[in-house]
Amino acid sequence: MRILLINPWICDVAAYDFWLKPLGILYVGAILERWGVEVELLDFMDRHSPFYVSFLENSGLRIRQGRYGSGKFYHEELFPPPPQLQGIPRRFKRYGWPRKIAEERVRKIIRRFDAVFITSCMTYWYWGIVETVKLIKEICNLPIFLGGIYVNLVEWHARSLGKEHGFEVVKGVGVAPVIEAMRKLTGYEYSGDFDWFEDLHPAYHLYNHSLPYGVLMTSVGCPMRCTYCITPRLWGGLKSKKAKKVIYEVDMLIDMGAENIVFFDDAFLLNPDVDEVLDLLAKYAGKVRFLLPNGVHARLLTMELACKLKRANFVLIYLGYESSGSLQYKTGGKVTDEDLKKAVHNLKKAGYGPEEIKVYIMVNMPGQRKEDVEKAIEFCENLDVDYSLNEYTPIPGTLDWVGLVKEGKLDPDVDPLLLNNSVLPYWWEHGMDVETIEKLKRIKNRRLR
Ligand code: SF4
Repeated sequence: MRILLINPWICDVAAYDFWLKPLGILYVGAILERWGVEVELLDFMDRHSPFYVSFLENSGLRIRQGRYGSGKFYHEELFPPPPQLQGIPRRFKRYGWPRKIAEERVRKIIRRFDAVFITSCMTYWYWGIVETVKLIKEICNLPIFLGGIYVNLVEWHARSLGKEHGFEVVKGVGVAPVIEAMRKLTGYEYSGDFDWFEDLHPAYHLYNHSLPYGVLMTSVGCPMRCTYCITPRLWGGLKSKKAKKVIYEVDMLIDMGAENIVFFDDAFLLNPDVDEVLDLLAKYAGKVRFLLPNGVHARLLTMELACKLKRANFVLIYLGYESSGSLQYKTGGKVTDEDLKKAVHNLKKAGYGPEEIKVYIMVNMPGQRKEDVEKAIEFCENLDVDYSLNEYTPIPGTLDWVGLVKEGKLDPDVDPLLLNNSVLPYWWEHGMDVETIEKLKRIKNRRLR
């Protein structure tokens, strides 16, 4: 049995490679290999693939590279945009490999396979799946299975898309959806008698080329219940990896050339082994940089942990703050102003400069006033740390989502394309309008000049 794994394009009005790697499908690869299935990977979002790089060079295109291996994606505009987005004054694009390159790669290898497994992420990126499936269907008629976050959050939509475009949907996380897809494909019940997260490692070797950065997770899930976050519902609690397994994966990425290793846990500091992980990572200082771009819990960032992060050469630490004012409590109480102040103090004492600490602020949360965002900005500026303004969107299945549907402020059957955080303010009448959001963003831009 041979399976082709595909990480599909992203279709959006904006996208940037802030260390995006399809960890889910890399674990699927590891699970399949454990069963003796032969797998290959086509990652349409891989900026370091030799095919993509030589296409850019031959076309004389220079795409801007960012810090620590991040960078811009190549894109092609999709015109006209999907009908749902007509009237929204933003250009809709397909990010990642040029279509020509993706088509060439699929045509060249597809005959070797019995089926295609595709992963999914944000619900509002589903157009990338449509584009990917259309490309495969133009070339062959292999069975296609789709799993991932989009399927888990809006299963009804994924199933109807599957009917329309001819693919099967498998729901769930971990090994269960892979067992289901293989059962449908072969009629055989594969065994899930292993811990996919602890016993397996993401199958990075499927890239077949060096990578300037790699992404890992020392845990999945979170025991907290913030109203805007889907993580607790998706994973049903915290599942963590032992320190020595984390170190094995770090070595694996270093062997592949990674100079930047990014931890994308939702609750990195809640891993019971976090102290040991950081102590062990210290041996790589000078050899590799570590990054925490997913907003760690400020309340847990003690002086001791801040010193360990510094010793291990963590060069970028994002803290989750989201909003000032009463919303901090109303949304779950994960952080207060005092928590953030202490965390920043500890990081600075440990030797971090203002440009190495970044605070996430959300804009357009339900019930959030413009003044809440302005105060949050002012608070960060007084702490002398950088901040990032992120536009909010209600994620299907979160407590916010349930509340908004109940209050009649959101149609539960809304097309996920309209939930794109850059698109939401153009049509949703229960949040901030585009102009207010732009004004808030300009505060930062003005101060940067
Ligand atoms: S926002 Fe962070 S703390 Fe809150 S539930 Fe999600 S992962 Fe946990």
